[in-house]
Parts: sequence; C-alpha cells; structure tokens
Amino acid sequence: MHGEPNPAALKVLQKVFGYDSFRGPQQAIIDHVVAGGDALVLMPTGGGKSLCYQIPALLREGTAIVVSPLIALMQDQVAALVQNGVRAAYLNSSLDYHEAVEVENRLRSGELDLLYVAPERLAMPRMQALLEQARIALFAIDEAHCVSQWGHDFRPEYRQLSQLHQRFPQVPRIALTATADVPTRGDIVEHLQLQDAALYNSGFDRPNIRYHIAENQGNARDQLLRFIRDNHDGEAGIVYCLSRRKVDDTAAWLERQGLTALPYHAGLPAEQRQHHQTRFLREDGVIVVATIAFGMGIDKPDVRFVAHLNLPKSIEAYYQETGRAGRDGLPADAWMSYGLQDVITLRQMQQDSSAHDHQKRIEQQKLDAMLGLCEIISCRRQALLHYFGDHLDAPCGNCDNCLTPPETWDATVAAQKALSCVYRTEQRFGVTYLVDVLLGKSNERITRFGHDKISTFGIGKDRSANEWKALFRQLIASGFLSVDMEGHGGIRLTANAKPVLRGEQSLTLRKPSKAKAARRGNKGA
Ligand code: ADP
Ligand code: ZN
Repeated sequence: MHGEPNPAALKVLQKVFGYDSFRGPQQAIIDHVVAGGDALVLMPTGGGKSLCYQIPALLREGTAIVVSPLIALMQDQVAALVQNGVRAAYLNSSLDYHEAVEVENRLRSGELDLLYVAPERLAMPRMQALLEQARIALFAIDEAHCVSQWGHDFRPEYRQLSQLHQRFPQVPRIALTATADVPTRGDIVEHLQLQDAALYNSGFDRPNIRYHIAENQGNARDQLLRFIRDNHDGEAGIVYCLSRRKVDDTAAWLERQGLTALPYHAGLPAEQRQHHQTRFLREDGVIVVATIAFGMGIDKPDVRFVAHLNLPKSIEAYYQETGRAGRDGLPADAWMSYGLQDVITLRQMQQDSSAHDHQKRIEQQKLDAMLGLCEIISCRRQALLHYFGDHLDAPCGNCDNCLTPPETWDATVAAQKALSCVYRTEQRFGVTYLVDVLLGKSNERITRFGHDKISTFGIGKDRSANEWKALFRQLIASGFLSVDMEGHGGIRLTANAKPVLRGEQSLTLRKPSKAKAARRGNKGA
C-alpha cells in the first residue's frame, strides 16, 4: 500500500492496454488489490474503474470473477479485453448450454484471467461448486450501489454477494461505483462486508460537464432543437424521456428537423435496439432518444450532450445519466427541461409501485432532492456534489446558475395568496383547480363547492395561469406544499407553510423567464 508503485502494473497498462500512465488513484488501488487488500472505489463515470480490477486480474494468480449487472455491458467489456489479448469470458443467460460448459472448463483449468458473471448466476449452487474448483484471483463487484435499497438501482441478487466473502475469506474483493451518496456507501460496506476495505474516493466532480436546467415553458422541444443546433451540430448525444411514446414522438420529430435521431426503449424489438445502439457507437453525429433503459455500460467517449426532456427520479439518476456525456474529458453539456407534470407523473408512479411504504418515502425524498436541484439559484455543481457528500469550495463557473445568475423575485405575497387558496379550499384540490380559483374563473365544479364565494377567489388576477402553476411547482419543490398521493393528488400545506402564511418568513424565488412565458401559447411539448 505504502511501498513503491508496482512496476509490473505500469508495464501491463502500457503493453496490454496501450496507455502511457495511470490516472488519478488507479495505481494505488491496483497495488492495494494486487497485494491482497479489499477496496471500495468511488470514482465518477469515465474515471477508469475497469482497469482497477482488470490489471490486478492479470497480475494475481488465478481468475478474477467480475460481477456485473448488465449482459450488454459484459459482452462489450469482454470483447474489448479479448481484442487486447486478455483471456476473458462471461457466463450469463445469453450463452447456450454448450457454450457455458466450455467457459466453465476454461475456468477450472485456469485458462481465464477474467470471468464476468451476472449476480443472479453467482448465487446458484452450480456456480458455487464451480468456484470451489477454480483458483480465484479476486472478486470485483461493479456497480456496487446496486446492493443498496438507498441506491436508485437496487438489485436483490446483489445481497447474496456477501456469501462470497464467507466462502472465500482469503480472496480480495474490490467494489466499484460511480454513484453513492453517504447512506448508500454505508449499505455497500455493510452488505458486502467491506468494513476493512480501503476507501478510494475520487470525488464525483465532472468538471468538463456544463449543467443547465430550465423549466419547460411549453416549448421544450423547440428549445432542445435550438440547443442542439447552436451547440452540437452534427455531434453525438442522448435525449432522455420518461415514456416510450414520448421517445418515439421526439425521435420522429427531430428526424423531421433534419437530425439523425433514433429511438431506444424496451418496447422496441431487440434487433432494432441493437441496431440503433450500434449506429450510435459507430457513426458520427447520431442522437439516441431513449428511456432510461439506454446507456448503462455504453462506453462512447465522445457523447457531447445529454438532454433530459423530463425530470429524472433522483439526483443519482440525473448524475448517472448526465455522466454519459464527455467521458473523453472534453467539454460536454447536460441540458434539462422539466415541468410540473413530471413531478406529478413520477409521484404517481412511485405511489402505484409495489414498494413498501418505507421505500416509497425514500423515493419521494429523492425526487424532492432532484426538484431542489432544479430550483436552486446558486451553483448547481456545488449542490450536486454536496448531495454526494463531496465539497467544492467556490461556485464552479460552468453551470447555468454561475454563468447567468438567475433573476429572483420576492415571492412572499404571491406565495401567501397561493397557500391561503390551498387552505381555504380545504387542501383537497390539484393545481389546475387552485389556479382557476385564484384567477376567479367560475366553472361548474367551483360553484358546486362554493369556492366562488371564498376570499381567495379571483385574488390572483395579476398573474397568468402559467405563472401560478410555476409558483405552485416551486412551492412544492421547496417543501411548502405537498401532493397527497393517497387521495386524489390534492395539494396540502406542510408545516413549513405556516411561517409564510403568518408573514413571519419571506420567500425569494427564481424568476420565470418573461420572454419565454410570452411565447408559450398552446403548443404542448
Ligand atoms: P468507468 O468504468 O469508471 O466509467 P472506464 O473504466 O470505462 O470508466 O474508463 C473510461 C475510459 O477511460 C475508457 O475508454 C478507458 O479505456 C479510458 N482509460 C481508463 N484508464 C486510462 C488511463 N490510465 N489512461 C488512458 N485512458 C484510460
Ligand atoms: Zn456552478
């Protein structure tokens, strides 16, 4: 650990992988694992995690067993290794019986440097027996955050990986992840029994990525098109949408605007998905429009932008998805447009899921944190890194809030009107209804409930419906209001609302852009 760097590691780096020198903590990690130590590696996407176990695999006696959650990821990694002359193979459900037996034989006879295995397979008795017969160099657990329910990507099979340590206590283990907030980190240590592992935390900053988050003013697609044309003409990018239908619609629309945009989601036939992925990897300037199904394990270094047309469900998801941009270290953009409807849809999806209440609360907190990141008026990178327990001394100068400080306004009086409207209508109604009451729009429902008679009816005529909607969204995002998901999505006051209603607390909010607001019209996006 503290000795001289192992010269053999550098030789392997140069001879096998063709790189000149190690990056960041790679050498220290490799030396530690080669010497038989356990390691927990937190390194941003593109940081070079793979070499941290691939080189020890070549330097230690026996075969390294690599646990990896996605089949596509395994195939790519193994193909790249084989091309470099490394004896690597994988075992997963894509192999037929004979192919699997052949790999098993190669493992037994010590002919493999690395074997990639899906986590569910590792738990099978047949696999356990096989491992007993093999000489194991180390265990590498990739995407280690999958072990945690706090993580955004929980996979129950990962929990069984603790068995590895019990059965093979002498074999070193290295767990790696690019996204782990503090509780997730604790879970990884606990469930993988890594209490004695050395922690290598490279921090999470991706300084070459420029963050930009804007509210959807009803013309998100046009904004996206302008963003691509102005900044990334002919360059590769990924556009994320929440639904398959929106993926299809957006890809078709971008194609009509003259761009090369291919849809990718779980509803498309496997061969079409494969074809689109291949084109994205091989051709220049291809944009993939995708649900979150796309991207994990795709090593395309020159993705110049990642755009979100919907709100991601957590900061982890946002960080992981935007992290696919600029892996080559050159400038790249993370661009997002989001709206209140996203929040409602995501909350509804969370509510309808089969998860336990505890899990739902965690998901809700994660979504709130994501919204908080959208709403802040200070440096996005500082907030993002703070979420992961990292620290950045000064504002970054490379996010929208740093580059063009958002205009703010004193929203105290407007917030008081909105909050009292929620209160007077008994905390049972959704945003559309509340806005109608504020604007003094009489309709059948409003008269039926007698809300055309209350004091807040029509007190909001000084603002447009969209301005009120934006305010409600901000009040929800900043925790003054909550959406009642057990009922019918009615908006409720939280404890935080009281000081504002009583005039004890003032409120400064991000100013919605007037220029865009004027243009919004009826165009849906
Ligand atoms: P991660 O798994 O952390 O996202 P990878 O291991 O896929 O990152 O590495 C990202 C990219 O950086 C890959 O293209 C890899 O070949 C390259 N890379 C890794 N280490 C080095 C190095 N020491 N020198 C040059 N390139 C490297
Ligand atoms: Zn910044």
